Amino acid sequence: MHCPFCSATDTKVIDSRLVADGHQVRRRRECVQCHERYTTFEGAELVMPRIIKQDGSRQPFDEDKLRGGMLRAVEKRPVSMDQIEQALTKIKSTLRGTGEREVKSELIGNLMMDQLVGLDKVAYIRFASVYRAFEDVSEFGDAIAKLQK
Ligand SMILES: [Zn+2]
Repeated sequence: MHCPFCSATDTKVIDSRLVADGHQVRRRRECVQCHERYTTFEGAELVMPRIIKQDGSRQPFDEDKLRGGMLRAVEKRPVSMDQIEQALTKIKSTLRGTGEREVKSELIGNLMMDQLVGLDKVAYIRFASVYRAFEDVSEFGDAIAKLQK
């Protein structure tokens, strides 16, 4: 790829390692022209099911949106980027594992909560409260019960 700083066409890889449980390669690159350094992530692109929203409309699976939601939930919590990427990898492999071409958005929310509950309790509560808006008390109770397990 071209250097994002000066658009030079030649960059060299100065470090390369596996991340996200071996599902991604992280590369540190240096531009041979301006010597700026940056990081790229490489992973297999696999077809994800489309998402059926509450109103019945469909949209493509959006990993960045998921990552954004997770990051918001774990803000100022002791959760590393690697843990987030691992959680996202698990969610994606579960989604692919369904073998469905379309899945309901609720499923994504539930998968995210499953991951967050294992990562950080506060992040889980934050996400659950936003996601479900605790429409009734029993849902909130369920969320708490899951934490006490
Ligand atoms: Zn450059």
